[in-house]
Amino acid sequence: MDIHEYQAKELLQQFGVMVPRGGLAYSPEQARYRAHEIGGERWVVKAQVHAGGRGKAGGIRICESDGAVEEAAEELLGKRLVNAQTGTRGRIVNRLYVEAATPIEREFYLGIVLDRAKEQISVVASPEGGMEIEEIAQQRPDSIVRCAIEPAVGMQEFQAREIAFSLGLPSTLIAPAVKTLMGAYRAFRDLDAVMVEINPLAVTGDGRLLALDAKMAFDDNALFRRASISELRDKSQEDPREMQAADRGLSYVGLDGQIGCIINGAGLAMATMDMIQHAGGRPANFMDIGGGASPERVAKAFRLVCNDANVQAILVNIFAGINRCDWVAAGILQALEKVELNLPLVVRLAGTKVEAGKALLRASGRPIIMADTLADAADQAVAAWRAATENRA
Ligand code: ADP
Ligand code: MG
Repeated sequence: MDIHEYQAKELLQQFGVMVPRGGLAYSPEQARYRAHEIGGERWVVKAQVHAGGRGKAGGIRICESDGAVEEAAEELLGKRLVNAQTGTRGRIVNRLYVEAATPIEREFYLGIVLDRAKEQISVVASPEGGMEIEEIAQQRPDSIVRCAIEPAVGMQEFQAREIAFSLGLPSTLIAPAVKTLMGAYRAFRDLDAVMVEINPLAVTGDGRLLALDAKMAFDDNALFRRASISELRDKSQEDPREMQAADRGLSYVGLDGQIGCIINGAGLAMATMDMIQHAGGRPANFMDIGGGASPERVAKAFRLVCNDANVQAILVNIFAGINRCDWVAAGILQALEKVELNLPLVVRLAGTKVEAGKALLRASGRPIIMADTLADAADQAVAAWRAATENRA
């Protein structure tokens, strides 16, 4: 799970990382009010979206008056920021962070990530801050300082000092840098984060070390024990298809093919996707409705797949062990009552109560294409999609 910059800054501050004064705004008037609260003469208005590279996408505005703050807020709110990190869909700007603009002397990069392969925590730093880490790795790979942290021991002060010295910080800033590194590391560990990034970590004109940007991501599997973190979730920043599915307890991953899939069991879903590909089509999604799926659950899955504009044929493939084919059939029919389906539908049922399930579908009088085996189902779905496409052409 990702969070916003302002949320990450609030958390990091609790662990001793220094940040500029700032405040959240949902409207232009509020942004202006925040500028007054913060004081000073220059402010930065920052779009809060779950993606980096906002500066280059026009999401970071330096303002010299409270009127300019209000204007910048007016322009940014409701806008969709699009860059390499957001994907083509972009991310909607619903919140702004107004911050004191700080004169910058130097910008550093600091990242803490989980290295699953090495089973360690990796600290990455560079004196080439401001650029994204991928750019630094490409253009100035020699500038990158790395340090592996053994999680059972944790970051030691000497390691933090070593990193601070290798960045070439002046002696007066070694102690603040150690405090920042130790704080960011403790936030990472104590909050079950998988990533903390401070870019830039800036040396200001008046010789302070401040985090001007902050990003954090958390381990989804640990959210159950971090209630205060999971409350920071912002659903407006997530893929609506996957979010709706997650809210309905369905495992769903959106893909870009044409055949919509409704399947029980992750293994069968993978096999079905392979078979579709083998038959010459491409799956539009991965979907596992799970074992013991009630008719309501099947109907929910159905609506979700039908709402995807890419889908041109639907394949339902159920091998019922705990599941019951008659329930699945009832779910399909229930869904068809509510969704007007103009797409070919192929259904393959096997296992518990298969005859009852097939009988229900046949008795409905709906134009459902029945298949007996997985290979047959994939062939039929691809053939139906091709025929439907040709008909339309
Ligand atoms: P992003 O990484 O998404 O582009 P940042 O928060 O890093 O967004 O902002 C981009 C750049 O804007 C920074 O590298 C920094 O140079 C400048 N900047 C950001 N916040 C401030 C601030 N409070 N004062 C001065 N400059 C800032
Ligand atoms: Mg940044």
